[in-house]
Amino acid sequence: MTIQTEVVIVGAGPCGLFQVFELGLLGIKCHLLDSLAKPGGQCTELYPEKPIYDIPALPVCGAQELVDRLLEQIKPFGAEMHFGHEVTVVNRREDGRFDVETAGGLKFDAGAIVIAGGVGSFQPRRLGVEGAENFEGTQVFYRVTRAADFHGRKLVIFGGGDSALDWTLDLADKAASLALVHRRAEFRAAPASVQKMRDLVASGRMRFIEGTAASLITSGEQLTGVNIKDASGAMHALEADALLAFFGLAPKLGPIAEWGMELEKKALRVDTEKFQTSIPGIFAVGDINTYPGKKKLILSGFHEAALAAFAIQHYLYPQKRQFLQYTTTSPVMHQRLGVADAPAAAGD
Ligand SMILES: Cc1cc2nc3c(=O)[nH]c(=O)nc-3n(C[C@H](O)[C@H](O)[C@H](O)COP(=O)(O)OP(=O)(O)OC[C@H]3O[C@@H](n4cnc5c(N)ncnc54)[C@H](O)[C@@H]3O)c2cc1C
Repeated sequence: MTIQTEVVIVGAGPCGLFQVFELGLLGIKCHLLDSLAKPGGQCTELYPEKPIYDIPALPVCGAQELVDRLLEQIKPFGAEMHFGHEVTVVNRREDGRFDVETAGGLKFDAGAIVIAGGVGSFQPRRLGVEGAENFEGTQVFYRVTRAADFHGRKLVIFGGGDSALDWTLDLADKAASLALVHRRAEFRAAPASVQKMRDLVASGRMRFIEGTAASLITSGEQLTGVNIKDASGAMHALEADALLAFFGLAPKLGPIAEWGMELEKKALRVDTEKFQTSIPGIFAVGDINTYPGKKKLILSGFHEAALAAFAIQHYLYPQKRQFLQYTTTSPVMHQRLGVADAPAAAGD
């Protein structure tokens, strides 16, 4: 069965979610798909417990909390969400509509497409030692979903970026032991975090080794430690019951790269009026797009989604006159938001 819809949104990260909202305000219905099992994109997958400080009017907001708030905000629009569905085919037909297919066999006939695919199907860069894959998810981790899981354990953390340093600082006092291993003396992380880490080393609460993982130490089915080769070539055997590696993400555009749109450095080139790609009717918002001055911030993606919604409305209904309406005062928007009976505020 083919599902008919006005818009298909590929990707349910923060920008895909907010795209539902902006389309909903204009009365446009959509289906939202993500290859992951749940919404939230990078916020949920990579840093759910971290606070975000640069969302307007929210001085601090947990990454998962932001996703939860977005889900709450888009509820009135009843978008149908399909998780665990990677979109593999997007094909523009001669009539200007799109055939969309997922790896799992869902089929759509859509009036327009928004790609909010972030960094694509992202994969963490793995720890390059033999056998590490056997312990993935049990003793070798590439992200922290529940910090408490690592309390009281012997930890070795790898990496020199913000994630490695933030988790080092967070867990240093809660772990049974902690060592940070980074291949260079220089860090990409915030200097203040690096200084705090050095203070912890100086006070004997953790170790730092400039080096790389050489091999795992195992006992039967268990990982019991890791051998580290330091910068001078000397080996150090570190006891560990969990290894956390934060080497960043290897962006894999995946199927998106095969849909015929113009790419620049693995991102979709868009204009800054409509956020339309090189294929009319396919729009791109959030981390997946590029244009002069692009900054990969959630805030930028929200703005892009607002403008893309108007452009999508025009693509779908070129005869329709467009008005800018305020959510504060528009009766039709109130109806769409389900707040039609809200009492007028003083001054209305
Ligand atoms: C550690 C860390 C901290 C950050 N802190 C901040 C911050 O403080 N402030 C800020 O503004 N930004 C921050 N960011 C960046 C922010 O998370 C991204 O800008 C934001 O997530 C981009 O949202 P998005 O919706 O474009 O993409 P994403 O969040 O990447 O979501 C894209 C979704 O698309 C899905 N997808 C991709 N291809 C397909 C396909 N073919 N089919 C189906 N689904 C697909 C993916 O599975 C994914 O769920 C941070 C990022 C990281 C890693």
